[in-house]
Amino acid sequence: MNNLLLSVGLGVLAAVVTFIVLDRFFPAQAGEAVDGDVPGGNSAQLDQLRRENRWAQEILERMAEGVLVLDESAKPLSTNSAGRDLMGFHEDMLPARLPSGEVLELAEKALAEGVSREALASVWFPARMSLWARAAPLQDGSGVVVVLQDVTNEIGIQRARREFVAHASHELKSPVAALRTLAEAIRRAVHEDPDMAEHFSTRLTAEAERLGRLIEDLLDLTKLEEAATPPDQRIDLSEVAQSEADRFETPASAAGTSFERHIHPGVWIMGDEGQLGTMIRNLLENAFHYTPREGRVTIEVSERGGNALVEVGDTGIGIPLEAQSRVFERFYRVDRGRSRDSGGTGLGLAIAKHVIELHGGHIQVESELGQGSTFTARIPSAAPEQGTVRSLAG
Ligand code: ADP
Repeated sequence: MNNLLLSVGLGVLAAVVTFIVLDRFFPAQAGEAVDGDVPGGNSAQLDQLRRENRWAQEILERMAEGVLVLDESAKPLSTNSAGRDLMGFHEDMLPARLPSGEVLELAEKALAEGVSREALASVWFPARMSLWARAAPLQDGSGVVVVLQDVTNEIGIQRARREFVAHASHELKSPVAALRTLAEAIRRAVHEDPDMAEHFSTRLTAEAERLGRLIEDLLDLTKLEEAATPPDQRIDLSEVAQSEADRFETPASAAGTSFERHIHPGVWIMGDEGQLGTMIRNLLENAFHYTPREGRVTIEVSERGGNALVEVGDTGIGIPLEAQSRVFERFYRVDRGRSRDSGGTGLGLAIAKHVIELHGGHIQVESELGQGSTFTARIPSAAPEQGTVRSLAG
């Protein structure tokens, strides 16, 4: 980022200097000046100066970075439109003082020391933003050029990553601590109380499996985040859903939960089979986890209005209204204890949402406490002929 800014800064500096010089000598539009305005100037030179001025001004106006020119007392002299927007200047009116204390301090430092200075500045006006600011003093000490780049998004992403790493480490700590405690308990019980040792050993296996699932989910999420291009295989979503649903038949009948499938054949999308399988599996796992025995889980796959629809419904515990918008966040659980008991990682829905968004779709939930929940994923269908060819062949 610094290098990019440096090269941008240097690249425009020549233009900026022309701009400042012309701006100072021709405060009225240079293009409107008359020959007599420049003592000893001739018309060819003046035309050349006008062209260069227009050229410099156009470059500055088109830049995404804000460029501010300040005089020797750090008073704003001129700016391009990005600079006006970033500093919240009124059109054509420059204030006597920069509104951002941090940017002003940087410019004053650069002026006082005669060397370029750069720093991250947080501004609150005209909006809350993080700006990367670089102040380069003019060689004769008559002013300073400040280049501003809006890095709010980049800083936000970095912060989210840091929070995620902190959160993930915290989540990993608890099964690791449980494994340690259980191993110690087994060591003590193995001679005196073999039944107890057996019990601890079962719990240790369950904790190790949960840890394994957490690591797998973290890796899945990382892979999804690194995916640079949208998945582009022609996939029969119906087939993916059928094979994922098959996995749940035996546990469903063992639990006495009825499992209904309404999977229309030949629902085609462009996608990644593995990711789509994970998404459907996560929705079904949740439906079964959060539905008591004797309840009902349904999966429906269909095509409507140019979209493939996957609806997974249950008659389970439901999700409180205030939690419905949060269940797709990483590590968010309505009931931490219940999720943990069922071996949940708190990442299943975050992964499902990520997969669906990578496929250009979106997911929503409708739920009523004590009545059940329905998760609906919509993903744009593939072009009709792509699906037809494979359906007929199949
Ligand atoms: P977990 O591994 O905890 O199930 P998820 O990301 O899959 O994590 O889900 C997040 C939270 O959303 C769960 O902890 C649970 O509170 C809630 N949830 C998800 N699916 C359902 C469902 N079908 N019924 C009730 N609550 C659900």
